[in-house]
Amino acid sequence: MTQYPKRLIEIDLPIKRISAHARREKSIRHGHISTLHIWWARRPLAACRAVICASLWPDPVDPLCPSTFKETARTLVKKWSENNLGLLGSESYSRFVRIQKEPARLDNDEELRRALLDFIADFSNWDNSTNEKYLETSRSLTQSAHESLGGIPGTKPLVVDPFAGGGSIPLEALRVGADAFASDLNPVAVLLNKVVLEYIPKYGNKLADEVRKWGEWVKKEAEKELTEFYPKDPDGLTPIAYLWARTITCEGPGCGAEVPLIRSLWLAKKNKHSVALKLVPDHKEKKVNFEIIQDAKAKNVKEGTVRRGSATCPICGYTTSAASVRIQLKKRGGGAADAKIITIVLTKEGYTGRYYRLPTENDYKTINRVKRKLAELTEGNREFHK
Ligand SMILES: [Zn+2]
Repeated sequence: MTQYPKRLIEIDLPIKRISAHARREKSIRHGHISTLHIWWARRPLAACRAVICASLWPDPVDPLCPSTFKETARTLVKKWSENNLGLLGSESYSRFVRIQKEPARLDNDEELRRALLDFIADFSNWDNSTNEKYLETSRSLTQSAHESLGGIPGTKPLVVDPFAGGGSIPLEALRVGADAFASDLNPVAVLLNKVVLEYIPKYGNKLADEVRKWGEWVKKEAEKELTEFYPKDPDGLTPIAYLWARTITCEGPGCGAEVPLIRSLWLAKKNKHSVALKLVPDHKEKKVNFEIIQDAKAKNVKEGTVRRGSATCPICGYTTSAASVRIQLKKRGGGAADAKIITIVLTKEGYTGRYYRLPTENDYKTINRVKRKLAELTEGNREFHK
């Protein structure tokens, strides 16, 4: 087995300081591209940066640590202590002041190790992630580690992440001067990584302009195609959503009513604009009708029909158990096919609020058009794939 010096990460890592930076980062990193998707395990950039540096840089105390790396590290730490004390966190500050006063302290490999770990802890601060001084120093250390450990001069070390997800690890690898290979099984992840790691560095703002332009185009085309399925009401309001409820058959003795599954009857719950549904049982037809309560008050809004998966019938009051509800829905392929339309959500140009109304004859006509179109498209798709 080839012998190699241990890397810093095998010795120590200032976890406490890195965690503090990672927690803070979570609360401020909203606009980042990776937030477009929900990830299994989001890695804070702070932690990735620290882990990559500590995996690439050898431990100066290890007898196998190349002396050229130690020399470079000493020079850089010394320079840092002379010029950049103001960029350090409070916990690193005193060490670097001591080094500034007495640079020979760095001849002690333990002291050099601690200084490098201090640097890693401070570099993991979000505020330092684009600081030129931090970037330059980290890249010099990465390059020196690579070449002194046998990397061909002029090449970079390669960080490989086969399940890159949101791309925190490859992004940070590039930041600290390594090359990165990233892949994932998830195509969303692959696309995001391609954009962040390849397209943004290559095209910059031009990319943003093009995305805006083509996004606008997609929006217009989609509007053209979908307008017929969201026809305006006579009063000019435009439907933007159709709210549906799946239904089950009440299993109460002798009942058999159609029960819509609704968790909450609230449509909007704002101080000025609260709207809710009211269940109106039709005992003769054994079904439930609806009314809409404008300016709804909490005391006038009842519970929905569903609670922890069981469904209570508004006609007879019987509660069909969660297990039976599940069985019924399963028999109907999930229940979407015979879902019942409950409410139409509408909006008006220049108004940010929402209007709600009950479905009319016209809506059912629209829904039938949608169904026909969908069947047409599905059929076309089948032909296409033959
Ligand atoms: Zn019933």
